[in-house]
Amino acid sequence: MRIKIFYLSAIVYAVISSIGVLRLQLPGYLLYVLPVAIALFYLFYACQKKVELVHTTIGAILVNLSVQLTGGLNSPLFMAYAIILPIIGYKEKYSNYWIIALCLLVVETIASVFSHEIIILRLVLFAVVIIIIGVLIRNYSENEAFLKKSLVKYEARDEFFRPADFESQEILTSLGDIDRHSGVERPLLYYVKLIHNFFDANTTAFFSHSEHNLVLVQGFSRSELFCPGSVVSLKGGIYKQIIDSRKSILIKEFVQNPDELGYYKGELKIDSVMIAPIVLLEKIEGVLVIDRKGEQFDEKDKELFDEAVRAAGYFLAMLRLYERQYRKSKDLHALVAFAKRLHRGLDLEKILPNAVSSFREVLDCNDVSIAEIDELNEYGRVIKSTYIKENTEFPLDDGLIGFIVRHRNYIIKEDLSEGNLVVFKRSEKTRNLSFIGVPITQDEALLGVIWCEDHKKKKFNEDDVEPVNLLASHLSLVWQRAIHHQQEKEKAARDGLTGLFNHRQFQEFLQKEIAEKKEVVLLMFDIDHFKKVNDTYGHQAGDRVIKFLANLISHTGIAARYGGEEFTIVLSNTSLKKGIDQAVRIRAHISKSKIKFNDVEIQITISVGVAHYPGDAKTREELIEKADNAMYRAKQTGRNKVVVARTMERSGNQDIRGSGEYGKM
Ligand code: GH3
Ligand code: MG
Ligand code: MG
Repeated sequence: MRIKIFYLSAIVYAVISSIGVLRLQLPGYLLYVLPVAIALFYLFYACQKKVELVHTTIGAILVNLSVQLTGGLNSPLFMAYAIILPIIGYKEKYSNYWIIALCLLVVETIASVFSHEIIILRLVLFAVVIIIIGVLIRNYSENEAFLKKSLVKYEARDEFFRPADFESQEILTSLGDIDRHSGVERPLLYYVKLIHNFFDANTTAFFSHSEHNLVLVQGFSRSELFCPGSVVSLKGGIYKQIIDSRKSILIKEFVQNPDELGYYKGELKIDSVMIAPIVLLEKIEGVLVIDRKGEQFDEKDKELFDEAVRAAGYFLAMLRLYERQYRKSKDLHALVAFAKRLHRGLDLEKILPNAVSSFREVLDCNDVSIAEIDELNEYGRVIKSTYIKENTEFPLDDGLIGFIVRHRNYIIKEDLSEGNLVVFKRSEKTRNLSFIGVPITQDEALLGVIWCEDHKKKKFNEDDVEPVNLLASHLSLVWQRAIHHQQEKEKAARDGLTGLFNHRQFQEFLQKEIAEKKEVVLLMFDIDHFKKVNDTYGHQAGDRVIKFLANLISHTGIAARYGGEEFTIVLSNTSLKKGIDQAVRIRAHISKSKIKFNDVEIQITISVGVAHYPGDAKTREELIEKADNAMYRAKQTGRNKVVVARTMERSGNQDIRGSGEYGKM
């Protein structure tokens, strides 16, 4: 509509100017300057290809204006029309070109009539130009239209075959409410329904093919005798023939008993049948059957049926692919969540239960076990399992775990009962049939093996390898981190020179034992005249002596370096008598030892204080104080002896000899 109004106004204007009204109103020089300037301005627009409808119209008016004002048919600008015309043709609809061109021709003719100077030659020339440009534009625009059309075709194809942009989750769950295998089952139902109606069949049946049977998975029938859940044995009969030959058949006149078709129960008459195998990558996936009552199937029907069956193969393949991709992406989401869960915790005790549950949920299996591996001594030890006792040790020779360790690769077993496979230990039979196991490696080092088992056969397949490997690599990271963490913790608890527990660790341990109300004997001792050792042999010799002592007591209870050359030993669940025996043994052993340093042999003695919990003290502080006092008393009374806190108290401050003193024995 808009275009019509514009063109109409252009023509009205052109007519007005052509009859000379405007020419009388405008001063002479403007007749040329104004229209030429405006027309050039328009052409500039057009060259930039920004021409729109309104520009075309104004352009047409202006060119006409410049022509009319400068003499109409006699104007030197007359052929400016030849410039405006292609632009109009290019930008507008092809029919509009003719309208505007003819209008201009008419206007020029009228103008020439009014000015009494009909110049036929010019008008004819103008008409010829209009026709030539019109023809040229026609060819051009046809080409353009063809290109545009094919572009539309490709765009439409792209649009149609694009990946889904809707929430597939939504559509699948809504279908899932109805079907077990949402992705494949429902589209197949529509397919079978379509075939059924198309061939006007009595029954259409889609069988899936397993080793010895055909199972009816989808079917439609007009007959009440149709049995939807039918299973047909492939020992003999019509279907065996089709599966063996891999060819479809048309039985125009079906004279056999309909029982042969495998999905009817009862008496009825079937007149015509078509049966075809559905083949996918050389493998027979199923069989499609249609039968009819009344009118027989003919050769034409058979051709169509064969096409439909071929389509079914592709259709099934695509649906399965889609289903597989969909599950994969779903698994990936779950995997990310489980991998995140794995990273919780710094200690193996926290990490391992998470690992077990993550593997169990991702693989949807009954049992998961993790073992640490000592490759040097060739044995493994179960450290977490849903069914094996923790700390069960096993050799790496004949089981699947040993195999994984040696080959540093995953193993899948579909049926453990075949060939009596051993999982980890010959004497401990597994309760499962399926197996998948992976090594947990960090660089070249093997940390352990994690394996999953299931009651059912063929539970795991190659599709599981990717998620299992991914989880395993996460597990190896957190496992390694846990080892580092443990090492750091131990380092922080140890004394740098001796490797014994440090002072803080000693306090914490003692506190814990007392909190648990355990019977504890605390030995506290200090090297006698140690300054002399340093002074005589040097500081390094002193260090050597400290290390010797530490080494000697490192396996006795919880031994700690209390500070400098003072040591403590916490003996848990130990009676005072046993504690005293221990102290006496240590003191005696040290006093007889000759500690080699370079060429010299150093001999030292120690003074030991012994206190008992709960006999001597109620708290940790009190117990330490009692042991310290006893040690001090040992120093005061000659050194190289053991003093027991209790005896010391009973005997008061004066007399600690006799029963309280255990030195120099
Ligand atoms: P006593 O205990 O019998 O009264 O005499 P002592 O000479 O052993 O006296 P004390 O226990 O007070 O002296 C401790 C000395 O041990 C002081 C310090 O130089 C030395 N010492 C402490 N720690 C170290 C160490 O790590 N290495 C060496 N070489 N010497 C140390
Ligand atoms: Mg000291
Ligand atoms: Mg000392």
